[in-house]
Amino acid sequence: MIRRIFAIVLLGLVIYACAKVPMSGRSQLALVSNEELLPMAYQQYNQVLKENKVITNTPDGQMVVRVGKRIAAAVDQYMKENGYEKEMQGFAWEFNLIQDAIVNAWCMPGGKVAFYTGIIPICKDETGIAVVMGHEVAHAIAHHGRERMSNAMVMNGLLGTAQAAMGQNPTLTQSIFLQAFGAGGELGMLSFSRKHELEADQLGLNFMALAGYDPREAPGFWDRMNQGKEGEAPPEFLSTHPGPNKRKEELIKQMPIALEYFERSKAK
Ligand SMILES: [Zn+2]
Repeated sequence: MIRRIFAIVLLGLVIYACAKVPMSGRSQLALVSNEELLPMAYQQYNQVLKENKVITNTPDGQMVVRVGKRIAAAVDQYMKENGYEKEMQGFAWEFNLIQDAIVNAWCMPGGKVAFYTGIIPICKDETGIAVVMGHEVAHAIAHHGRERMSNAMVMNGLLGTAQAAMGQNPTLTQSIFLQAFGAGGELGMLSFSRKHELEADQLGLNFMALAGYDPREAPGFWDRMNQGKEGEAPPEFLSTHPGPNKRKEELIKQMPIALEYFERSKAK
C-alpha cells in the first residue's frame, strides 16, 4: 500500500515536473526551476570570466557579441510570438570571447555564452559564428542544462525526497549543479547527449535563419569542424557525437523549414 502511494506521488511529481521544449515540442524532466538554477549558472559564468582573458576590443570579440545579440533578439521575438515568454523568465543574455586555443563554445542556462578564440578560424566568418551561436543559444532555450541537472537528481535518488527535488535543499542542489555542469575549468566541457546535440542543431539552424543568417552555411561549418580536428575537439564538438554524417543528414532534412524562417527574416 505504502509502495503504491509512493508510486502515485512519484508519478505525480514527474508529471508536474515535466516541461516542453519550444519548437521541437519534446517533453523533458524539469525538477529544478529557473529561479533556482539561473543564479547558480550566473555565478559560475562570472567565475569563468574572472579566471580567463576576455577579449572585447578586437573585431572577433565584437563580432561574437554582435552575432549573439542579433540571434538573441530574433529568439526573444519568436518566443514572445509563440507564447513561450514564461520560459525566458530570468534570462540575461551575455556573449563573451575568451582567449584560449581550445576549439570550443558553450552556453550556460539563462543565456550566458562563451566562445573561445580557437573556434573562430573554423567559423571563418560571421555566418559561421552564427551557426555555433544558434546551436549554443538553442541549448539554453531548450533548457538542456536544467534537464541534465534534473536527470542527475534522479540518478542521485533525489526524486524520493521531495524536499530536495523541489529545491528546498540549497547545498544539495548546488552540489548536484556542479556535478551536472562541472566546475571551473571543466565548465562546458561535459558532453550533452546525442539527443540534445541534434535538438540544438535543429533549433540552432532555425534561430540563425530567424536572425537573417543563411542556414545553408551550417553543413559547411560542420565539415570544417570535422576536418583535422578529430581527437582534439572537446565533447561539445566531438565529431563522433553525433557522427558527422548523421549531423549533416539531419541538417539537410531540416533545411526547408529553416529556409522559410530565413525568407521571413528578409521580409522584415
Ligand atoms: Zn552542443
